[in-house]
Amino acid sequence: MQKLIFATNNKHKVEEIRSVLGNRFQIKTLEEAGIKIDIPEPYLTLEENAREKSRTIYTLTGQDCFGEDTGLEVFALNGEPGVKSARYAGEEKSFQKNIDKLLSKLKGTTNREAQFRTVISLYRSGKEFQFEGICKGKITDQQSGDGGFGYDPVFVPDGAYETFANMSLEEKNQYSHRRKAMDQLIGFLLMQAVS
Ligand code: IMP
Repeated sequence: MQKLIFATNNKHKVEEIRSVLGNRFQIKTLEEAGIKIDIPEPYLTLEENAREKSRTIYTLTGQDCFGEDTGLEVFALNGEPGVKSARYAGEEKSFQKNIDKLLSKLKGTTNREAQFRTVISLYRSGKEFQFEGICKGKITDQQSGDGGFGYDPVFVPDGAYETFANMSLEEKNQYSHRRKAMDQLIGFLLMQAVS
């Protein structure tokens, strides 16, 4: 079985990704790999931040690993909060304060179109590969639901009638940006295994 380190300590992301992978790959989180580190996200693009995560862990361990960075891009706000999604309302990274700030900025705005974009960076045998997943949808007027994390209570994906926060993990995975990026990563790894 292929083994990979997932360069994160975000338990929500780990849960989502494990449910997509099933038992095809063995994934270790940073904590499970005994790596105590909070990798910074210093760059202005998701691509560079995702690379920073996987490269840091590859350099440290020499083991195949991947990292991901995700942003919520709201069209009426010219792509904000984007790469700043985690710290939109400040360094404390409060999900609730981020939502409050987003809803207040969108007050009275009729264009509620937005997308989540995930970039995964894989380091494998010293080479980097990137994969992207996008989920288009709309920002609601009010938050709803207590599942998921981050902006899930205010995001309804296209084709659905409720927010991510009202969905089970499996339902969210039918639409999600992260699952789409993971599908590409999985396809790539499976191809490499047979070639
Ligand atoms: P990062 O990829 O850890 O930098 O995530 C940035 C921020 O985007 C998180 O703190 C969340 O607020 C938000 N975020 C990332 N993925 C999701 C998601 O799947 N649903 C809702 N919010 C998310």
